[in-house]
Amino acid sequence: MSFCCGASMVGTKGTLKHYRTQVHNVPLLFCPVCHRVEVHYKVENEYEVLAEYAHSDGLSEIDFQDFIMEDEESIFGNCVNREDEDPLDLVQSQIDMSLDLLTVAKQIEDSKWEDELKKRLAVMSRRRSKLLQKNSKEMK
Ligand SMILES: [Zn+2]
Repeated sequence: MSFCCGASMVGTKGTLKHYRTQVHNVPLLFCPVCHRVEVHYKVENEYEVLAEYAHSDGLSEIDFQDFIMEDEESIFGNCVNREDEDPLDLVQSQIDMSLDLLTVAKQIEDSKWEDELKKRLAVMSRRRSKLLQKNSKEMK
């Protein structure tokens, strides 16, 4: 588990810019407090090698996933949410995180990532309203 600002960083995937090259699907760690984004420590070396290769080759885009076969579970396995968490809290924190990431996506002008996040947000807000409905029924 990585920490920043005393908060645990969240695992995600996104696009990073290395000079003029955009590297897609890079496993990242994101700090929900200060919005710092860093390459996941498990793929730091691979990222550097790949980004340098793409940059020296003059590629404008590259997909990290095409080169790295590390499975997602083993990368993000240590930053999954706890199971005993309230599903509503969970969905709410995922929404907050996606909103934060959306800000990052806009900052780096990654419209593909922005669209993905918007889709994810739509799905999660539907889930949230379902959970809210369920909760209010239980209270009656
Ligand atoms: Zn931070």
